[in-house]
Amino acid sequence: MDNNSRTDKSFKNLASFADEIAVECPHCKKRAIVFADQGDYTVPYSTRFRARFRCNNCYKPIDEKLWYGPIFIRPVNANCGYCGTRLIRSKKMVDKLQSKIEVKCTGCEQEKKYDVHYSLTYANNRQATDPYFGLQLWLQIPFDNNILWAYNFAHLDYLKTYVGAKLREAVSGGKYSLAWKLPNFIKTAKNREAILKAIGRLEVK
Ligand SMILES: [Zn+2]
Ligand SMILES: [Zn+2]
Repeated sequence: MDNNSRTDKSFKNLASFADEIAVECPHCKKRAIVFADQGDYTVPYSTRFRARFRCNNCYKPIDEKLWYGPIFIRPVNANCGYCGTRLIRSKKMVDKLQSKIEVKCTGCEQEKKYDVHYSLTYANNRQATDPYFGLQLWLQIPFDNNILWAYNFAHLDYLKTYVGAKLREAVSGGKYSLAWKLPNFIKTAKNREAILKAIGRLEVK
């Protein structure tokens, strides 16, 4: 048996599902679509992308220059403006970008507002958004302390195939690989039946 003769036809990366993403319309809360032209460089995402939003339910546009998702902020200044104590670099998640963050010094206990550094977040254990505008993904569902999410129905189907194949492998001992890193809660063997159920609930959304 030649182990190298078979090409893995299952190879796909996450970006290959990211050109059409089902999101929740921020106006009418129905399903809308983010279309993205990712350009040539997609590892993991192109920084030069052109994305468009369309809601076929209410047809209201969004401001495509804005980020609608959660943002992490932390103070720029590393030291307290009163006593010079090093500030604890506490990160805070906010819905709207703010230019100042109030931090209480652990040394002198005085509060002061500081300029912020910010970073955007796509998905964490509470929610998942599209990577272009930060709109809530249509296909997301809490699973234990995580969020199971997919960009679109093709992506969901792919996850289903993966988890289903893993279930069968447990019996037959085959190999089915996935190119991108899946969160552990999806890969954990004991979760497989429950993951398939959660996927089933998303399929009818
Ligand atoms: Zn809408
Ligand atoms: Zn201080």
